[in-house]
Amino acid sequence: MNIVLLGAPGAGKGTQAQKLVEEFGFVHISTGDLLRKAVKAGTRLGRQAKSYMDSGKLVPDELVIGLVKERLSEPDAKVGWILDGFPRNTPQAVTLDSELKSFEVTLDAALLVDVEEDVILNRLSSRRTCRSCGYTATADVSVCPRCGGQMYQRDDDKPSTIKERLRTYQIQTAPLIEYYRGHGILKKVNGARSAEAVYSDVKELLGL
Ligand code: AMP
Repeated sequence: MNIVLLGAPGAGKGTQAQKLVEEFGFVHISTGDLLRKAVKAGTRLGRQAKSYMDSGKLVPDELVIGLVKERLSEPDAKVGWILDGFPRNTPQAVTLDSELKSFEVTLDAALLVDVEEDVILNRLSSRRTCRSCGYTATADVSVCPRCGGQMYQRDDDKPSTIKERLRTYQIQTAPLIEYYRGHGILKKVNGARSAEAVYSDVKELLGL
């Protein structure tokens, strides 16, 4: 099964993806994680992407699309994948469709984790992320429960950038909800609940 996750930053896409990976062994492809790794490693791509990420803007399509194509072509992606944070705008969605078509791969569902903006603001400002594996938790967690890595607050989870990220989401990413509704594969879950309650609905919606 191949899934695209939709939803504002902080809606809980990564958390639901982590759960699906643990239970079903999907490959989790988070473009945010891939980009942060590139920034940390100081690669050319990382240096190009950093200023966009720091200001809450989207990294140019050509940089991100290359990254996703490369990851999808790795052998482990054949078992089924969850794309988290991609596509982020209509050109990315159209490119993904044509790539999948050329490889005769089907996109089974676009899962929207739906959360109101005031809940998002609270969640993002108290979110902490593992420097090593990208696991996310609340501010009271200082050591990653998954790998023992150090938890930190992403620069773009600070209040000044959060507003810009939400604006970017509304303008560029939210239109994808209608895009995938039009393709007949949109599934919507209320994300303003505990991760466990959301996950239970997610499995039902996906027929898992
Ligand atoms: P995320 O971890 O998904 O919130 O992504 C963090 C940042 O990485 C975003 O604010 C963007 O600057 C960049 N980014 C992640 N995914 C994409 C994408 N598909 N297209 C463009 N920029 C992206």
